[in-house]
Amino acid sequence: MATPAPAELDARDPLARWAAEFPAPEGAIYLDGNSLGLPSRRAEAALARVVDQWRTLGIDGWTRADPPWLELPERAAAGVAPLVGAAPVDVGIGGQTTPNLHQLLATLYDPAAAARVIVADALNFASDTYALRSHLRLRGLDPERHLRLIPSRDGRVLRIDDILAALTPDVQLLLLPAVLYASGQLLDVATITRKARAAGITIGWDLSHSLGAVPHALARDGADFAVWSHYKWLNAGPGAVGGYFLHPRHAGRPPGLAGWWGVRPERRFAMAPVHEPAAGAAGLQIGTPHLLSLAPLLGSLELVAAAGGIAALRAKSLAQTDLMLERIDAELAGHGVTVVTPRGHPARGGHLALAHPEAWRLCQALKAAGVTPDFRGPDLLRLAPSPLYTSYAACAEAVARLRRILETGAHLRFPAAPALVP
Ligand SMILES: *Cc1c(COP(=O)(O)O)cnc(C)c1O
Repeated sequence: MATPAPAELDARDPLARWAAEFPAPEGAIYLDGNSLGLPSRRAEAALARVVDQWRTLGIDGWTRADPPWLELPERAAAGVAPLVGAAPVDVGIGGQTTPNLHQLLATLYDPAAAARVIVADALNFASDTYALRSHLRLRGLDPERHLRLIPSRDGRVLRIDDILAALTPDVQLLLLPAVLYASGQLLDVATITRKARAAGITIGWDLSHSLGAVPHALARDGADFAVWSHYKWLNAGPGAVGGYFLHPRHAGRPPGLAGWWGVRPERRFAMAPVHEPAAGAAGLQIGTPHLLSLAPLLGSLELVAAAGGIAALRAKSLAQTDLMLERIDAELAGHGVTVVTPRGHPARGGHLALAHPEAWRLCQALKAAGVTPDFRGPDLLRLAPSPLYTSYAACAEAVARLRRILETGAHLRFPAAPALVP
């Protein structure tokens, strides 16, 4: 059954009015919200408020701003908690994805246990693998022996049987991305978490490519930890603070990397020589929170809540990628484009990945035609409609512009991909 016309979908879209929150250049189609989301007026206003308080209150901003700066990380945690399916106390806001991963490993990984292999996957964002390798070295272990990467049979997606087969008795910790950054595959977080836990394995998730696009139920699923960034689907700004989840079963564990901001708030300024960790995830905080990159997140979270929360975003996101898939199948057939993102809703994240040998040039040509996609080497074009600011009409128009480029060979006027694309 064909999907209704894009204009009709826009007319009855309950989220359509939120696009006005994102002032973008007229006619531009931005499909890179999975790498860097666009600023909303609320995010900008939240940032301006803190800058203003800094000017008028100086140091007193920590305690006398409205709300006091000291409370902002907790407020952000309360806003993110429903997106990851956790209690606010188990969510920490601060740092960045990779440093937070280091902190969780430092806190939860035991190099002296009999089972000490860490399992990750061969397709993950390389920063996670760098962190795992360097962590093992720091603990005196050899990453060649103690890090095992689950292979991909096609170089695009992971198979759940390959993941489960990797959970052997020598494994202590498993780290996986919920959505694979290249192909956009969404893993079965609930099943993998349950199987890992049943095997006594510590299970952690990288939600960088799913948070704000796909709902999560970390507490229900029983994950031990998760890390994520807020500058992608959550539109908190370039390099915005990251976040993490620590399951309450680990509450009270001393942080692997201790710092004064992880001390119980009422004891923080006691400057006692021994660290007294704050309750929940806050105990893993290390230094003073980056307020200027946390403030926009507060505005962004307010917007997500006003728009109806993550279920509403996910419903629109799937409808948008459904529409794009239908158009891609109908319009791009015969042009050498292969959709590598799994098509079933339970296995699809928020973006689509198209493979084409000239993906780099297609990316340049699309940008010249007013569409911002994203390239991932060697051959992937990623298209990421944001349910908050992309219209259905824009989804269809982006595919139409790609079709015209392929039909006319307009991309061939652009230089070939450099050997190493930044
Ligand atoms: C974006 C992303 C990161 C980025 O980490 P930062 O430390 O925030 O730069 C890490 N892992 C995955 C899976 C990502 O998608």
